[in-house]
Amino acid sequence: MIKHYLLTPGPTPIPPEVALKEALPILHHRTSEFASVYKDVAEGLRCVFQTKNEVYMLAASGTGAMEMAVVSLLSPGDEIVVASCGNFGDRWAKIAEGYGIKVISASVEWGKVVKPLEIEKALRANPNVKAVYTTFTETSTGVANDIKTIGEIVAKTNAVLIVDAISGLVGQEFKTDEWKVDVVVSGSQKGFMLAPGLAFITLSDKAWKLTESSRLPKFYFDIRKYKKSYATNETPFTPPVTLIVALQESLKLIKERGLENMWNDNKLLAKAARSGIKALGLELFGEAPCEVVTSASVPVEIGGKIVKILREKYGVSIAGGQGDLKGKIIRFAHMGYIGKADLLVGLACLEMVLSELGVKIEKGKAVAAAEEELLKA
Ligand SMILES: *Cc1c(COP(=O)(O)O)cnc(C)c1O
Repeated sequence: MIKHYLLTPGPTPIPPEVALKEALPILHHRTSEFASVYKDVAEGLRCVFQTKNEVYMLAASGTGAMEMAVVSLLSPGDEIVVASCGNFGDRWAKIAEGYGIKVISASVEWGKVVKPLEIEKALRANPNVKAVYTTFTETSTGVANDIKTIGEIVAKTNAVLIVDAISGLVGQEFKTDEWKVDVVVSGSQKGFMLAPGLAFITLSDKAWKLTESSRLPKFYFDIRKYKKSYATNETPFTPPVTLIVALQESLKLIKERGLENMWNDNKLLAKAARSGIKALGLELFGEAPCEVVTSASVPVEIGGKIVKILREKYGVSIAGGQGDLKGKIIRFAHMGYIGKADLLVGLACLEMVLSELGVKIEKGKAVAAAEEELLKA
């Protein structure tokens, strides 16, 4: 028997109050009982997204909402700008190319942050561009992009701005309306502290205009169907009722703590994680670290082993690198239901694994450095 700690950047642990809701008898989704849950959840989502617009729910992983943000807005032959800085940003280009969309790249090397000026240049050089797709917190590298500045730039053009905030919402300050973001997508298994399987999407009026002329093929991911059902507190197809009932509970927990406090809690955890990692002599990876996951460079020959031994021997799950970063970085998540104590457990076990692998470190240093940060708060 081994006790498990989930410190991965999705899925994340679920608070017991939320898990209990997932065990309740199933509600039927065409009832007033469900409609009342739906209404409550819709209100909570608007707060988390910081928007006055409707937020729709669909049964899919976050990528389903990403696909929806492509097929619901665009038409064959359209041009878009993709500003990627990692694996998830690249996914925008892959989805769009899969539908025959012309992708103009304003992407940067993995680990760097997207350059707003490159987006501005791309828009100026390609006045027909319909949309700019980018990522808020790039979970694959651990950096956060300056969405506010990008929002200012795109708002001055005819293009709409679509942001993947799947891992960043709840954990890091994000303001859809204030930052002039037209479309935001997210998912249940990160900051929302739920099981995987529920995706979210919201659209501005400017983005709705595009949906009217959109001609890409679609059925399940046609956002107009979701808008129509929203008016009666329903979804067009059977929703994951269990997840939505549990979402009501997690939104309640977020509201009780306060969204701004949630942002600050994560900021503190991120600071402590960075201090701890640095105290071990490891180098942080990424140009502008986000507040929901911390990445560190590790010697390539032990990268994979660290993750494996942590999980198998200590029950601590963290993530390694994706794509070209496989084996080269480790990623410690502190999003969702992860607290100070979890972080200290993770760092302590990391120290043991590094020692075991022959890396010269002083045991206790990461934990001590993290404690210093946590005590400052
Ligand atoms: C997790 C994640 C995704 C993918 O979400 P799925 O739910 O696995 O489809 C996309 N983008 C970012 C930034 C993520 O963190």
